[in-house]
Amino acid sequence: MPIDATLPYDDQNIFAKILRGEIPANKVYEDDHALAFHDINPQAPQHILVIPKGPYVSWDDFAARAGDAEIAGFVRAVGHVARAAGMVATGYRLLANIGQDAHQEVPHLHVHIFAGRPLGPMLA
Ligand code: 5GP
Repeated sequence: MPIDATLPYDDQNIFAKILRGEIPANKVYEDDHALAFHDINPQAPQHILVIPKGPYVSWDDFAARAGDAEIAGFVRAVGHVARAAGMVATGYRLLANIGQDAHQEVPHLHVHIFAGRPLGPMLA
């Protein structure tokens, strides 16, 4: 079910539990600002999720409330994960779903990284 991205942050969401170590995830990278792990239901040969460590519902919430250091750290982490996974040579796609029309399901900001096959033209 898509979430209402205008609601306050719910610290019982599944990615908050992954951040707190309450449920497992197949982690690929972690630093002060971000955690990256494999999507449980991959839509491409490589499908990684990158999340900020702070409590942000969506990209909109993050852009509005996060500090400059958090934003810079998160953006750099996304780039680092893709580069370290060897995606730059062949290319990759970033995606962030925000709210109901985009079918955001988990109310903690996450950027999807897709790679490993030709991804085709972007679908709106
Ligand atoms: P959204 O539709 O919110 O942009 O994407 C949520 C993503 O989170 C989906 O691709 C889904 O497969 C992934 N996901 C949901 N629950 C879990 C989980 O418990 N662990 C992992 N690794 N991924 C999850």
